[in-house]
Amino acid sequence: MPFCPSCGRLLPDPSPNFCPNCGKAILTIAVAQQSAIRPPKKSILFAVVVGAIIPGMGQIYVGKEDRGLGILFLMIALWVATFLTAFILIPVIIAVYLLQLIDAFLQTMNYNKYVKKYGTEPW
Ligand SMILES: [Zn+2]
Repeated sequence: MPFCPSCGRLLPDPSPNFCPNCGKAILTIAVAQQSAIRPPKKSILFAVVVGAIIPGMGQIYVGKEDRGLGILFLMIALWVATFLTAFILIPVIIAVYLLQLIDAFLQTMNYNKYVKKYGTEPW
């Protein structure tokens, strides 16, 4: 049986939009409760550290699995290609490596900003 979170009175099922006892809007209270259980913030430091160890892991940590796996496979492909071409792709690998670290940092910042603003995960 649902009850009014404001005054505690039992409500008829299904809940009305307003509490018949105190007149508080039930919907507003439900939304306020929802944002109270917002997902926790993600650690930017952790995203960058795991991304430094395994490229793409920072993106996977923040919930962008496809992007993270794409980066990981790109890095593997670049390593294979550079072994086959006498290491001429090393500068490209370094550039992609640094960019994916910056990306992990920015994605985590965006994630935290969105969670703070809307109370749900952005993607
Ligand atoms: Zn009430």
